[in-house]
Amino acid sequence: MSHQPAVATKMSREMDKPLISLHLVDSDTSLAKVPDEAPKVGILGSGDFARSLATRLVSSGFKVVVGSRNPKRTAGLFPSAAQVTFQEEAVNSPEIIFVAVFREHYSSLCSLSDQLTGKILVDVSNPTEQEHLQHRESNAEYLASLFPTCTVVKAFNVISAWTLQAGPRDGNRQVPICSDQPEAKRAVSEMAIAMGFMPVDMGSLASAREMEAMPLRLLPAWKVPTLLALGLFICFYAYNFVRDVLQPYVQESKNKFFKLPVSVVNTTLPCVAYVLLSLVYLPGVLAATLQLRRGTKYHRFPDWLDHWLQHRKQIGLLSFFCAALHALYSFCLPLRRSHRYDLVNLAVKQVLANKSHLWVEEEVWRMEIYLSLGVLALGTLSLLAVTSLPSIANSLNWREFSFVQSSLGFVALVLSTLHTLTYGWTRAFEESRYKFYLPPTFTLTLLVPCVVILAKALFLLPCISRRLARIRRGWERDGAIKFMLPTDNALAEKTSHV
Ligand code: NAP
Repeated sequence: MSHQPAVATKMSREMDKPLISLHLVDSDTSLAKVPDEAPKVGILGSGDFARSLATRLVSSGFKVVVGSRNPKRTAGLFPSAAQVTFQEEAVNSPEIIFVAVFREHYSSLCSLSDQLTGKILVDVSNPTEQEHLQHRESNAEYLASLFPTCTVVKAFNVISAWTLQAGPRDGNRQVPICSDQPEAKRAVSEMAIAMGFMPVDMGSLASAREMEAMPLRLLPAWKVPTLLALGLFICFYAYNFVRDVLQPYVQESKNKFFKLPVSVVNTTLPCVAYVLLSLVYLPGVLAATLQLRRGTKYHRFPDWLDHWLQHRKQIGLLSFFCAALHALYSFCLPLRRSHRYDLVNLAVKQVLANKSHLWVEEEVWRMEIYLSLGVLALGTLSLLAVTSLPSIANSLNWREFSFVQSSLGFVALVLSTLHTLTYGWTRAFEESRYKFYLPPTFTLTLLVPCVVILAKALFLLPCISRRLARIRRGWERDGAIKFMLPTDNALAEKTSHV
């Protein structure tokens, strides 16, 4: 294994290279000099985060002093306005010191304890998922236990080195901050504002664990809706496979397996999109039914319904995603080689049968209407998707938002239903469509949306809508308004979203 040392040397050289480009740091001439009277900030560590932080601090008008175990090696990686020196020297003058090293190296800083007395230490660290499960106390609390004479503030851990480097305009602007010392928290918050970020007060240092879990989350609100969409896709795909591929193979000895990548997927996607869209409006119907039955809005909904109501936005966006994919796949259908062969074969059959003109008026109309309704439904769904973007949603008042999400959303559901009905036309009544005695897929998809549309229509009846409106304004069937107060914090969070 004579090549091993060479590999190791190469790797160590690779590791020495900064992830964040030095070119970016030095290309900005504003980072060359900082006025003498600027506030001084210390940074312990000279890694990716320290470099980006130093760059942002310098460009925000702070004096920066970086403490490294090997300042000679790292000095060239920092903007020239930042002073890079040994750790002992770096912590002397600044009142606020960022600790940009990993948790396992905190103890190596204990020799600086005396110099750090009375100073503010900003913990920016993030644990790995394993570390987060392994340690019961947060990194910030651990740092506080190592330096009892310092005030520890947890901040900036949700901001990546890249966002710091590029500036807050390109990424998340919010910086959650927590500490047991309000003064220290205020000082770090002011620094965050000066750097162009938006501090969010998370309370005492006990919140650090929650803050450290934030970067570990992977789209938590999307988990259930994505699993739901995936489950629906698998079920409908399997159903369509049995009807469109397996049945011709078994009963007619026809090989239709080529349909699996495009045709079956394209039959499945609209089913998923349509059912998902109806699932956005079904919980509202169930909630209204519950309120009508109970004669009050002051009873909490069951947990499953509360969660369902909270996930409506994600379910709606997934519905839009599937509908958009369905549109793209539909555009691709005529491009397939199989489609071209089918057309030629049809033409040959026609010639052999001596038929010169093929035109079925009913089919032509069905197709025109069906396509138009599909385009309208997708257009309306796109509006819903666009208005669910936070920047757009924030520019709408509550009435405008609920008009788009509730009324236009319902219009999209009706248009999709008409699109499905015109696609099906009379096929639900043809015996030949029941392959393996299984009904056509579109008949299955109609079930939930039709229930939702019928229920919504019922709620429009004056006697029901008036009663529902009164209940939602606080009226109770049993007379006096009773408020059910949650008994603990967890319950307090589970408020209704209708
Ligand atoms: P890094 O590139 O590996 O830098 C870590 C630095 O720690 C080293 O450059 C080293 O600087 C210093 N250090 C001090 N004592 C050490 C010791 N005993 N052994 C090894 N290194 C020691 O890591 P990083 O990406 O900058 O991350 C630093 C901290 O910021 C971590 O806690 C991380 O969770 C947090 N963070 C990083 C990011 C990011 O995007 N990178 C985002 C948020 C939070 P010297 O050799 O000069 O002493």
